[in-house]
Amino acid sequence: MGVKVNREKCCYCGACVAVCPKNCIGLDEVRIEIDNSKCIDCLACIRMCPVGALGKIEKK
Ligand code: SF4
Ligand code: SF4
Repeated sequence: MGVKVNREKCCYCGACVAVCPKNCIGLDEVRIEIDNSKCIDCLACIRMCPVGALGKIEKK
């Protein structure tokens, strides 16, 4: 599975980056990228995001 980001909601606060135990999330002032190959589906980033920009990728 993994995590997807709604870039229209993300305010680049960095909370998800700080909380991810696997360093999946890369962020700078204008871009956020998630490396789902490293994601362990702990969902910590989703819980931390203050604007609800992150969501689980459901299995097809
Ligand atoms: S679910 Fe966990 S491992 Fe995956 S990106 Fe979020 S914080 Fe990182
Ligand atoms: S916690 Fe949410 S708003 Fe903050 S950088 Fe991550 S996705 Fe964007």
